[in-house]
Order: sequence, then C-alpha cells, then structure tokens
Amino acid sequence: MKNKFLPIFSIVLALLLFTSCSKQNSNAEPVANKAMQLLDTFIIGRAYGDNSKRALDLAFERLKQIDSTMSRYNFESDIYKINENAGKKAVIVSPSTYFVIETAIHYANITNGTFNPVIGKVIDLWGIGTDHAKVPSKEELNMLLPHLDYDQLELDKHNSAVLLTSDKVSLDLGAIAKGYAADEMKRILQEQGITSASLNLGGNVLVIGSKPNGDSWTIGIQNPLESERGKLAATIKVKDTSLVTSGSYERYFEYEGKKYHHIIDPATGYPAENGIISSTIITPNSIDADALSTSVYILGKEKGLALIESLPNVEAVIITEDLHVYTTSGVTSDMLTIHSEEFIYEKS
Ligand code: AMP
Ligand code: MG
Repeated sequence: MKNKFLPIFSIVLALLLFTSCSKQNSNAEPVANKAMQLLDTFIIGRAYGDNSKRALDLAFERLKQIDSTMSRYNFESDIYKINENAGKKAVIVSPSTYFVIETAIHYANITNGTFNPVIGKVIDLWGIGTDHAKVPSKEELNMLLPHLDYDQLELDKHNSAVLLTSDKVSLDLGAIAKGYAADEMKRILQEQGITSASLNLGGNVLVIGSKPNGDSWTIGIQNPLESERGKLAATIKVKDTSLVTSGSYERYFEYEGKKYHHIIDPATGYPAENGIISSTIITPNSIDADALSTSVYILGKEKGLALIESLPNVEAVIITEDLHVYTTSGVTSDMLTIHSEEFIYEKS
C-alpha cells in the first residue's frame, strides 16, 4: 500500500465501521450525518434527534478551528508558531492548545517520556505518511535522540504561553489532538441537546449515550493483519465512551521488504517493536484514550496493561504480534466478541 492511498482507505474504514456498527433507527428519530477531511484524517459524525443537523454543523465548525490551531503545517497555527520560536521566545496560545499540551506533558510524565510530544523532528526525519518517507541513518537519529527531553516544553499558565527552550526538538500533537477534537465535538453536540451520537475520527471513535433504541453501540477494532480497512479483529459493545486504537497498520511504508510504521519509540528513534500490533483504549475522554493508545503501543503488553490497570476508568484491548488478545479487568467477555479465528482471546 502506498501512503497516498491512505485517505481513501481511511474513508473506507470509517464508512465500513459505521455501516457495520449502526442499525436502522427503530424509533424513526431524525438522524443527521456529516463527513469531512480534517486533522489529516477522514471524520464522520452521526447524531440523532430534532436538532441533529445543526448540532453536527456546529461540531464540525469547532473541528475546523481545532484543525487550524493545532496543525503543525499551518503557518498560522499555535503549534507552527511554537516550533518557529523554539529556543527564542514563548508563544501565547489558545486555551485549547494550552490544555492539549498540558495533557500531553501529563502523559509524558506518567509514561517516563515514552509518550513524547517533542518528537516532531524525529517524525519529520522518517516522513511516514508523506511522499518522501525513508529509513533515517543512525547518524541522523543520533543527532536528535539525545535531545528528546520533553522538559524543554515550558508552560506559563497565567499567560497561556508555551516556550520550547531548544530548537533541536519540535512539538507534535499527532498522538493526542484527534482525541481532544472528539471531546470538543461531543461537548458541542451535548450543548445542542444531543443525547445519542457517534463520531469517528479516522478510527478514533466516540459515542454519546446509547443508540436511539437504548442498545449499546457496537464498535469495530480493525484486524491489524489486514490492509483492507473494515476487516475486524473484534467488536466491543459500549455506551457513552471513547475508544481509540493505535496500530502499525494505520500509517506505514515499506522498504526492502520491511514495514516501518508511524509510532516511534523515543528510546530508539525507530518504530516501536515491543510485541504489540494494536492497542485500543476505552475511556470517557477521547484525549486520554488517544494519548494512552499510543503510549501502550510503545510500552508493550506488560508495562502497558500495568499502566492501564493503575488508572481509574480506563480499559484496554491489546493484540500482540503472536495474535493473542489481552484485556484489562473491566473488559468483560460479554462486551468483547472476537471476529477472526486467528486471534486467541486471553480472558482477563
Ligand atoms: P496515534 O495514531 O494516536 O498512535 O499517533 C501517532 C502519531 O503520533 C504519529 O503520526 C506522530 O505524529 C506522533 N507520535 C509518534 N510517536 C510518538 C511518541 N512516542 N509520542 C508522542 N507522539 C508520537
Ligand atoms: Mg494516540
């Protein structure tokens, strides 16, 4: 698969997950659907109720704002300005950007820097997801790795200002911004009186309430062995929560017969290879699910499961490269259905 086809695959994935997971609204309640390409991914929303169309329109407006403030490549964005001023001066940012950076630092702290928001230059070096993806040389990586200290992000809450103290690193919120965006869409939808909705931001799923008929939502977990999106390893039944998956199949390129994916272990500078091929986190706030799915992917099964068990209200479903499925204690077997015989469910 070539990187340039990824948006198309994301669309197919999102559509398949949506169609496979939603039945006809039995109460014949009004339903609105909306889709857009933003935040480097394809985003679909479905909301039920009288005000659903207007509510979705407003939620997508909010999404556009987040896209323009948090994209690294938009000259006007907070993130671009922080990186441009790295090693020079602090930048005053929007409360949203401040909150996302603050949360990213929290996850860097609790993962000992495995989640690393200043990994931007390493991400750029690999270029995964671009038309110039390449395997960097050891020398190139060695120039960057010793500097990957996220303490170089200095926050000044009073002034809503952020300073990157060194220009040897750059800020990248790619592992957390979509989660925040989902939470914000939820906030807007709820403000508009929506009590039943589902959002899919390129595989980051958030559901509000239950389906209109009161049933749980059934969310698909992509089979990480299949390049065809929408082929599911498992489904999970949930209400009023977010479910975010990080997987090596999401964004990668191949060089000399080896796949290189986009989730980088800051300890090596290489795509994480700690035995996990898919990590799904279930937790009410999508920002937490997003940060943790990336973190657990890199930490590996033992450390990842231990971290998630230590956090209240957070659950995980992990698929390892030997095709075992592990869950944390709150994922019961009536919630999870394995859809492919190649996976062995290790009940918790
Ligand atoms: P996700 O798909 O949420 O797991 O996030 C992957 C994205 O997060 C990548 O495309 C990078 O932009 C960024 N990223 C990669 N490795 C890390 C890391 N160790 N810490 C934080 N962000 C990362
Ligand atoms: Mg993430």
